[in-house]
Amino acid sequence: MKTIIANFKMHPESELKAQELIDFYLEKTKNLSNVELIIAPPFLYLKLAKEKGAKVAAQNCFYEDLGAYTGEISPLMLKNIGINYVILGHSERRKLGETNETIAKKVRAALKNNLIPILCVGETKEELPERERVIKEQLESVFLQIPSQNQIIIAYEPRWAIGTGDFCDPQVAEKVQSFIKDFLKNRFGVSEIKVLYGGSVDSQNINLFLSQNNIDGALVGGASLKKEEFAKILEIANSF
Ligand code: PEP
Repeated sequence: MKTIIANFKMHPESELKAQELIDFYLEKTKNLSNVELIIAPPFLYLKLAKEKGAKVAAQNCFYEDLGAYTGEISPLMLKNIGINYVILGHSERRKLGETNETIAKKVRAALKNNLIPILCVGETKEELPERERVIKEQLESVFLQIPSQNQIIIAYEPRWAIGTGDFCDPQVAEKVQSFIKDFLKNRFGVSEIKVLYGGSVDSQNINLFLSQNNIDGALVGGASLKKEEFAKILEIANSF
């Protein structure tokens, strides 16, 4: 079964609109028994999504449970409202200055609170010639800090492909994802791990990604805000 994550990013502008999207996707997936949908709305709409019965991911969290950290949301708070997943290391947060070290602390804190981290890794355009080294470092910084048997989902998201329409060649993504799985197995003994692809996925290209052996699903940003478009993505994912 493929996993599809809907990352709403900082959208929509009202709870009512968030509710419309969530209701529409939950209704759609009622008839789709072969796709797992995880919805990642902004913090303000997490509870709403949870109450409607969705599988829900936060888009970020802090690395301490409580304290004088104005403006932060802790993994303990997420756990206490019933959230099960948290996206960490998203490229839009790395762009704002989040480092491998901070991300590793966040992953550790999330796991301590029984949240399943969805760890995003991927290279910038400038880093393309050194893609494997960059991804290795991103993975190592996290996996050196956690016991390897923990449940964690990886999203390979080439940073140049996010929100640009310039998606990665699916066969190249397959090679990178196979590299990620081999690296985690050989270096950390991680054998069962889901690796998703993210970066300008839409209803026209999802098929090309999901038909690859090592692509276990997709993290979808922009297209998850377009009802009909995302419904098509879910339908196609259900057919695998
Ligand atoms: C994302 O937000 O993780 C993402 C992949 O965005 P988009 O699908 O818009 O490229």
